[in-house]
Amino acid sequence: RLYSKKYRDKTVVDVGDIKIGEGLVFAAGPCSVEDEDQIIEIARSVKKAGANMLRGGAFKPRTSPYSFQGLGEEGLELLKKAKEDTGLPIVTEIMNPEYYKFFDDIDMLQVGSRNAQNFDLLRFLGRQKKPVLLKNGMGNTLKEWLEASEYIMSGGNGNVVLCYRGVRGIEEATRFSMNVGTVIAARSMTHLPMCVDPSHASGKREYVEAMTLAAVAAGADMIEIEVHNNPDCALSDSEQQVTPEVFGRIVKKAKQIKNIV
Ligand code: PEP
Ligand code: MN
Repeated sequence: RLYSKKYRDKTVVDVGDIKIGEGLVFAAGPCSVEDEDQIIEIARSVKKAGANMLRGGAFKPRTSPYSFQGLGEEGLELLKKAKEDTGLPIVTEIMNPEYYKFFDDIDMLQVGSRNAQNFDLLRFLGRQKKPVLLKNGMGNTLKEWLEASEYIMSGGNGNVVLCYRGVRGIEEATRFSMNVGTVIAARSMTHLPMCVDPSHASGKREYVEAMTLAAVAAGADMIEIEVHNNPDCALSDSEQQVTPEVFGRIVKKAKQIKNIV
């Protein structure tokens, strides 16, 4: 398998000037892009707090069709404005190959948990050059997730970063169940860089810091974290988004674990 550690020891994925797989990379930003002022304000504040990349959903895979569906193409335009303003590269979700034409200046394409085994989408992304942030399907084993990455790599696109966001378990105190053992096992099975998303894994903002630190201790190369300037009023995932201040504190503590000053 192309993802196997037997094939290669370590992969570093370049996203603009950022190297995922070296040191510790933070992608931070809101669950959803809501309007221009919101995304610009958040982009500036997460940059100040230590983010290396800006995240933000434009095409949103919402559980209910009646929930806020994201701004779509307009959301991508706003992300590009935030990139011009701050210089932060962008990672945002793509749900359908048909939308790829809108993603020209987007730096990294996220495949969400709900599309993690959308094999047509994975095959399509395998034929492109852009880096992919591949989340685990919430009901998938590590092996199934790695096989999903193979769909991208076998098409010729080796720029894959895995993003662990927890699975459905029996625990209801957290939104999903994050098993640090999965991160540790993935490390031994694949050369691909590992990202962890403590926001969707926890579902509660008060757990995000400790879950980030656990992920970094387990060997994560990257953390994707939801940050909002006014979390209580966020149009999606309000309960799990942290403020830029809290994000800044998390970055400092996480870097201490990796001995990065
Ligand atoms: C997200 O990152 O915005 C998201 C929808 O995450 P997931 O696919 O992990 O649920
Ligand atoms: Mn979200």
